[in-house]
Amino acid sequence: MKTKLHLLFGGKSAEHKVSMQTAKAVMNAVDQSIYEVHPIYIDQEGSWNKGPVLEGKVDDVHALAFQGEKNTVSPLAISERAVKGKELDSAQVNEVVFPLLHGPNGEDGTVQGLLEILGLPYVGNGVLASSAGMDKIAMKAIFEQAGLTQVKYVGFIRKDWEEQAERVMSKIETDIGYPCFVKPANLGSSVGISKCKNQEQLKEAVKEALRYDRKIIVEEGVNAREIEIGVIGNDELECSVVGEIVPKTEFYDYQSKYEDEDTGLIIPCELPNEIYEQIKDIAKRAYKSLDCSGLARMDFFLTKDNEILINEVNTMPGFTPYSMFPLLWKHSGLEYPALINKLVELAIEKHQEKL
Ligand code: ATP
Ligand code: MG
Ligand code: MG
Ligand code: MG
Repeated sequence: MKTKLHLLFGGKSAEHKVSMQTAKAVMNAVDQSIYEVHPIYIDQEGSWNKGPVLEGKVDDVHALAFQGEKNTVSPLAISERAVKGKELDSAQVNEVVFPLLHGPNGEDGTVQGLLEILGLPYVGNGVLASSAGMDKIAMKAIFEQAGLTQVKYVGFIRKDWEEQAERVMSKIETDIGYPCFVKPANLGSSVGISKCKNQEQLKEAVKEALRYDRKIIVEEGVNAREIEIGVIGNDELECSVVGEIVPKTEFYDYQSKYEDEDTGLIIPCELPNEIYEQIKDIAKRAYKSLDCSGLARMDFFLTKDNEILINEVNTMPGFTPYSMFPLLWKHSGLEYPALINKLVELAIEKHQEKL
């Protein structure tokens, strides 16, 4: 019997388009002899729609569009079996959800919580890792606790800015200085992120970031190599080879991620063996500190004097065949369709451990 693979994609977050791209790629790649694909499109208003077709080319983030009649369903209606409250037979799990969602309302534990309640196995991280990984301030507090080295940062909420911007700015300028990076605490794909070199830019950047989140993080800007590594596993972890990003722009912004063709991804990248081993070790420690499962991409900065700073975790990293995470695994010997199979196996393993 084929395994039902419920693909959740789209979503309410600012990373909607990126998710569409991922979904199209996964639909094209899944082994139809093993899986029966059930697409579920979440539109920008947050409605869930069963069985839509995605038209367009995977590599064109703007052209991909949902086509056909919308068959809006309750998020609870993903699986007939779950609706009827029937338990999955632990020996024969034949239904798995793959939340191909980035950003809030998908990568942040909310959808994962729903799937837990429904008793459905799902690919990737659970509630805690997803939510702690999405919130850059919570994530950094956990990394700090785990003894991992990272850039200096300051966090605040909209109300702090509205009521005492001068105090917040003075803290940023004293603790961090310029250049600094202003980010919405909960987002990805560089949406809402700005690099600032002075107070005027800082004010603008905070205003921009506040469009996306009520919580803001400001980080010390480092001049460093950008290194990324993939980790997969539940209790037993495997690391991919290490990759490097060489953006042609001031930093690795949304446009250089999805629109520019000349952003260099170097896989594997040149690193002294000792640094390579240290990065793998830190990546695993970071993964465990957040209680990650399934997969994650860990982003690092490597300074000129070879100091390794962890930047962030992505609990549902970009997942088209051209994205860093699948490319890292391809260069580690795991092709895209095999990677999908592996992640589904890990989802089933985790589900069975819970029962
Ligand atoms: P994604 O989830 O797509 O990886 P994100 O929105 O979570 O992205 P970050 O990875 O934190 O954002 O930052 C995006 C980019 O901005 C980085 O890849 C890097 O180019 C630049 N950047 C972010 N923070 C810093 C920093 N503290 N110093 C220097 N560059 C930074
Ligand atoms: Mg991120
Ligand atoms: Mg991300
Ligand atoms: Mg990143």
